[in-house]
Amino acid sequence: MNSHPRVCVIGSINMDLVTTTKKLPKKGETILGERFETYPGGKGANQAVTSARLGADVSMIGAIGNDTFGKTLLQHFKSECISEKGIKIIPDISTGVAAITVLDNDNRIIVSPGANSKLTPKLIDEAQDIILANDIILLQLEIPIETVQYTVDFAYKHKIPVILNPAPFQIIPEDILKKVTYLTPNEIEFLSISEMSLAESIKEKMIITKGEHGVKFISKSGEAISIPGYKVNVKDTTGAGDTFNGALATELARTGELEQAIVFANAAAALSVEKFGAQGGIPDRKEIIAFIR
Ligand code: ATP
Repeated sequence: MNSHPRVCVIGSINMDLVTTTKKLPKKGETILGERFETYPGGKGANQAVTSARLGADVSMIGAIGNDTFGKTLLQHFKSECISEKGIKIIPDISTGVAAITVLDNDNRIIVSPGANSKLTPKLIDEAQDIILANDIILLQLEIPIETVQYTVDFAYKHKIPVILNPAPFQIIPEDILKKVTYLTPNEIEFLSISEMSLAESIKEKMIITKGEHGVKFISKSGEAISIPGYKVNVKDTTGAGDTFNGALATELARTGELEQAIVFANAAAALSVEKFGAQGGIPDRKEIIAFIR
């Protein structure tokens, strides 16, 4: 048991700009919306916040612009006790933003990756010492795929376990899939990976999240195990996958027990959908322990 799990999250950092409206503008039209709010977001950042709230020492590696959103997000990482030493400020490009329009239950989202697209292999090289101080690395696909490949190669060489959350899905080089320790697709991403020729050879590293139906994975002995979802009062499922991944990384680093970590992450993600917002619903450790009992 490792009482000080150290998790390195390498990924996207965004500001979510959320407008709630009763109708959408037609071409050339301007309308008044209902409400506007900003929330820290990005898959990398959401997963880092989860790991930190669950008690891990978290290092975030990412890129932001030299602008107001970037400054606010750096402050946010500090307030969540996440080390921001590995976050690079890139001049002449904006911090990543997601412009989200909410119309009843329908979301329309445009993500402008901004500085996230400048998280290059060179920046991973510069952060080597930070990365090496961790028990586990957590990656997603909102940063350039060359950077994902470079990080996976680096981790493989230094024998640091890697969880890759293959979201949002894109074609992933087979070499990445062979070298990562765990893959955490949702059901749709799983279908895309299943079509790849190496799918059978990596099935033992897949932990498939199935929304309200929980999680499926293959145990060390080769047995397919389904962990049912919890029945909860669903308010907003945004970021459920991110909560799952952050919790999984933390518990794997803490205990090294895969099944135990999946049970814990399934509970963390279920609790997260009972509240609004990708980060707003992330529970702390005590809440999860009380919920599992
Ligand atoms: P998102 O894109 O919304 O962040 P995802 O598509 O990556 O999510 P899902 O498989 O939908 O991932 O959900 C991840 C985990 O969250 C599930 O395995 C489960 O533990 C939990 N979860 C999601 N939705 C529900 C729900 N309605 N009830 C209970 N648990 C849920």
